[in-house]
Amino acid sequence: MRPLLLALEELSVRLGDTWAVRGVSLELGEGELGCLVGPSGCGKTTILRAIAGLEPAASGRVRIGGQDQAGLPPERRPVGLVFQDLALFPHRTVAGNLDFALHGLPRAERRERIRELLALTGLGDLAERYPHELSGGQQQRVAVARTLARRPALLLLDEPFAALDAPLRRRLREELAATCRRLGITALLVTHDREEGFAFADRLGVMREGRLEQWDGPYELYHRPANPFVAEFVGEGRWLPGRIGHDGAVECPLGRFPPSLPLAPGTAVRLLVRPDDVLHDPASPLLATVRGAAFRGAGMLYELELPDGARIAALFPSHRRLQPGERTGIRPDLAHVIAFPEEAFA
Ligand code: ATP
Repeated sequence: MRPLLLALEELSVRLGDTWAVRGVSLELGEGELGCLVGPSGCGKTTILRAIAGLEPAASGRVRIGGQDQAGLPPERRPVGLVFQDLALFPHRTVAGNLDFALHGLPRAERRERIRELLALTGLGDLAERYPHELSGGQQQRVAVARTLARRPALLLLDEPFAALDAPLRRRLREELAATCRRLGITALLVTHDREEGFAFADRLGVMREGRLEQWDGPYELYHRPANPFVAEFVGEGRWLPGRIGHDGAVECPLGRFPPSLPLAPGTAVRLLVRPDDVLHDPASPLLATVRGAAFRGAGMLYELELPDGARIAALFPSHRRLQPGERTGIRPDLAHVIAFPEEAFA
């Protein structure tokens, strides 16, 4: 485990009469990239603001590099914050915006750091441009460069790509992750886009109504979700009703599978079937009827009805189209069986 850079300990934040953050604990090691995902209003931004010192903690602690940040004003915390609203100075050039962020440092050092930052963010040729002469993606890079100017220990990113189109978002996200890794910067990104979170982060947290439901690696979140909410938030899937048999296996319309958690025989469960858990196999005796299809590029996402009437979604390669009403063979391929007792859905 790397040395800890950020630790939240039972952090709670109240905004007016709302508990926006409720008892959140998480840890991020030096140089790690973290991400908080969750539906709108679940408290993601408020956590970043509390770390930056822009909202007081009602209880709990924020530690950065082991140091308790309680009582430190925002400007004395070793963090840099990039918002969706970039707030560049419109009447200053790119270099001027960076220079402003470096005020107080000797002139020669400022000039050197500006050169470094421009090179790092690929803005070398644009130093004399004004913000309105830049594309959205270039403005976003200036905002990141400006935040890095003070060499913060921790970079906080609040939906920094939200205003950009999908291909540019992807490119900037990759660039930003690479820049952070190259410089050993620790960063915490907030987004409602789970794909973005998975692509960016070493550790992710799923939030709901102010609580952190799970804080884990991407693989663990996807394959070993802590509860049904996390399971649904991190990926597509349908729940199939099932029951735990005498030998502890889940019995369901797709067959019998060992669950990842031990559950008592006789327990009623629901088992999550993700679209890539079911393969198309015309030779299989297990038949399903096609009830719908949606084009997904390399694959087709089929809505399939099982013999007992339950439905699943399955992603098959798109070279052979199945027709609505057609019956075809399928084969489950569940490497990680995600099943929760019925009461977990209450
Ligand atoms: P989004 O993805 O929509 O930006 P979020 O997860 O970042 O949402 P927050 O902005 O942290 O959520 O808000 C958390 C909760 O606090 C929300 O329920 C919001 O309505 C509430 N809230 C935000 N600001 C205030 C305020 N000034 N007074 C009272 N409640 C507030």
